[in-house]
Amino acid sequence: MRTYLCQCGQTTYFDNTQCLACGQELGFCPVCRQLVTLLTEADGSLRCGRPECAAPLAKCLNYAEHQVCNRCVGLPATSESAGLCDCCRFNDTIPDLSVAGNREKWRRLEGAKRRLFYDLVELGLPYGTAADGVEPPLAFDFKADVIPKGDFWRSVGKKQTVYTGHAAGRITINIREADDVVREKLRVDLGEAQRTLIGHFRHEIGHYYWDMLVKGRREVECQAVFGDHEQPTHAEALERYYQSGPPADWQQRFLSPYATMHPWEDFAESWAAYLDMVSALDTVQSMGFGGECDPSQADFDRMLLRHQELGLALNEINRSMGLLDLVPEIFVPPVVEKLRYIHQLAQAGRAENGALQGSCQAGTSGAALT
Ligand SMILES: [Zn+2]
Ligand SMILES: [Zn+2]
Ligand SMILES: [Zn+2]
Ligand SMILES: [Zn+2]
Repeated sequence: MRTYLCQCGQTTYFDNTQCLACGQELGFCPVCRQLVTLLTEADGSLRCGRPECAAPLAKCLNYAEHQVCNRCVGLPATSESAGLCDCCRFNDTIPDLSVAGNREKWRRLEGAKRRLFYDLVELGLPYGTAADGVEPPLAFDFKADVIPKGDFWRSVGKKQTVYTGHAAGRITINIREADDVVREKLRVDLGEAQRTLIGHFRHEIGHYYWDMLVKGRREVECQAVFGDHEQPTHAEALERYYQSGPPADWQQRFLSPYATMHPWEDFAESWAAYLDMVSALDTVQSMGFGGECDPSQADFDRMLLRHQELGLALNEINRSMGLLDLVPEIFVPPVVEKLRYIHQLAQAGRAENGALQGSCQAGTSGAALT
């Protein structure tokens, strides 16, 4: 992640909505793809505060009405977007805002989702909705468990649990994950090294890209790296995993205990770790800590070496501060080959997207297939 500049010269950050130095409102401009000062015209309309851009803008509806977003839409707005930005337009279900605390959970989810889209745009990966003609169409459901009111006996069997997961482009997140106490308890109970909102998005989008880039196209080469996803089936593997847990020697071959469950989970865990790496390298480069490692260009071995060097240093800093390891993964040779495959697949997705963008002359938004 990079930082931005307010018109007054103050450094601003990806999640900001207001400059702390001059008080001006900020918003992400979809035209120049920067967090910019929002200038108000005499008629009350907004425009991008970067003179070289100066695009007419409106706040995303979720920014203007709910303060869970900090993005803008370009004007004139397209009818498909319905006033929603290039991140919010993918929402199919948002939390019930009449429930106390849900708006704050939604705000946290949107913050993590915007970082996911930043990663995808950095990598030039394709994605889109059904209206964009993209298969599978990407959509998000942010839902809570349904616990019926009433006495105990009437509610038995009626509780509906929401499972965080992916199905045919639809990413569902149980909004309790946005509660720090609940999420940390789950992390400890499940023996996970980390459990974060951005981690959930990076894992689930891995399943999305398996469907888009591997399914029916590269299954044989993917099986050679991750194993046969049909034997056992995902449902069988899930049951076995929750009965017996991971094999004792999982660290010899896998990134995490959960990756041992099924080749699809191994793929999604590897995809998430790859996005973690890209994000970390992009951040250190943007912050001036050196290491020319443009994730869209760099060769994989250089990227991984730099990430491992950073991991050693940052883990020690975190330990000295009493925090969890920033890079908990151990990059044994089988894990390295999985990440190398993900890197090659991401490059292939980027190349395909470039071809698509060129043919339809999209690209002013920078987001793929918009
Ligand atoms: Zn300012
Ligand atoms: Zn702009
Ligand atoms: Zn938005
Ligand atoms: Zn998964």
